[in-house]
Amino acid sequence: MKINKAYKFRLKPNAEQQVILNNLVGSARFVWNQMLAISLEMFAKNEFINATNLVNKIMEVKNNPDFEFLKTHSNAVSLQQKIRDLASAWSRFFDPKVHIRLKENKKKPKKAKFFKLADGTEIQLRPLMPRFKRKSDGRDSIRLVQFDKYCRVEGSRIKLPNGIGLVKFRKSQDIIGIIKNVTISKKSGHWYVSFGTEREVENPRHPATSALGLDLGITKLITTSNGVTIKPKNSFKANQVKLARLQRQLAKKVKFSENWKKQNGKIQKLHHHIANVRHDYLHKITTTLSKSHAMIVVEDLKVSNMSKSASGSMENKGRNVKAKSGLNKSILDQGWGMALDMLEYKQHWRGGLLIKVNPRFTSQTCLKCQHVAVDNRQTQSRFECVKCGYIANADFNAARNILAAGHAALSVEGGCSKGRPMKQKTCDTCEKVT
Ligand SMILES: [Zn+2]
Repeated sequence: MKINKAYKFRLKPNAEQQVILNNLVGSARFVWNQMLAISLEMFAKNEFINATNLVNKIMEVKNNPDFEFLKTHSNAVSLQQKIRDLASAWSRFFDPKVHIRLKENKKKPKKAKFFKLADGTEIQLRPLMPRFKRKSDGRDSIRLVQFDKYCRVEGSRIKLPNGIGLVKFRKSQDIIGIIKNVTISKKSGHWYVSFGTEREVENPRHPATSALGLDLGITKLITTSNGVTIKPKNSFKANQVKLARLQRQLAKKVKFSENWKKQNGKIQKLHHHIANVRHDYLHKITTTLSKSHAMIVVEDLKVSNMSKSASGSMENKGRNVKAKSGLNKSILDQGWGMALDMLEYKQHWRGGLLIKVNPRFTSQTCLKCQHVAVDNRQTQSRFECVKCGYIANADFNAARNILAAGHAALSVEGGCSKGRPMKQKTCDTCEKVT
């Protein structure tokens, strides 16, 4: 089995190296924007947009006499990779499945934006189309492939091309596997290096034999089928007031002025901090769970679906719309989707299983007699079966039902998991207080 894993560390370039790196990420952003403009022209003319077609057009940009700086201040490999990223962004746009999901989420339509084509006409920038990048977004990156050819790791330093030389990084753990590519990113003023590795391992056998059902909740992030509860870490909530204040201050400033940029930087930094705290916390929880249980069963929540509507569901009957819109924020804050992604690949690495079951009725079914009724769940926390009188904590009852559904699913499918290789997903999210 092939394992792909990414190792990310803080990069510590000196002042000179930062100048070069800033040039490299800046030209990569520039090329993205130029190529996006070209591909929008292609889109308007109904031309086919894919990686090959886009890569072929890069010379148009590189040979433009106005963009002379690209010859000296860019890295050709990373520019190609940027264009490949742009091509993937377009293929997501052309994927009908992604659009169906977007429709299900029914977000408020944003004010339409337009792009002016060379012939003077305008086309509307539709949802999911790749977007132009700005420096003030506070995030930039380049990816270098063919690691061995251009780079090298020496202890806790990495040799980078373009005359950058050896750059220190905070190597907090060993890098295991063959390094295939490296991503240098800048976020809120900090530099990072991420090594994409590949490793062939024998199909692992999970050390544990136990199975666990998980119920995901708001006040308790996770309730397990053996009765353990794990509290959420609301890093967003804790910083909400501060974030809202910073955003109010930003609104008063002249857009793109020096003060605006400074203020925007502060906001990016806080977002970054919020995401980091949550990310670390979820990593800890999911590692512990994955180490201890060979089979983990969760509800197949379409997290985006859960957070879409505050108009009430089967369980709450819309009686508390205000609380539910608060619930939306909590769901996003806890990052259920991120936690499930982590559990999925960690289980896969250890030779365990993550099973997703249909969440219907898991909270309304009696664990003892299987009677299903909305009235079984009288309050958020109390389960009392109207038929047999069984009383339990509602989340615990649900977790046990989820586990049972997992066992049932396994016996139907004959214990086969999907054999696709699991990749570690990078998960960065950005929230906004409204
Ligand atoms: Zn019952």
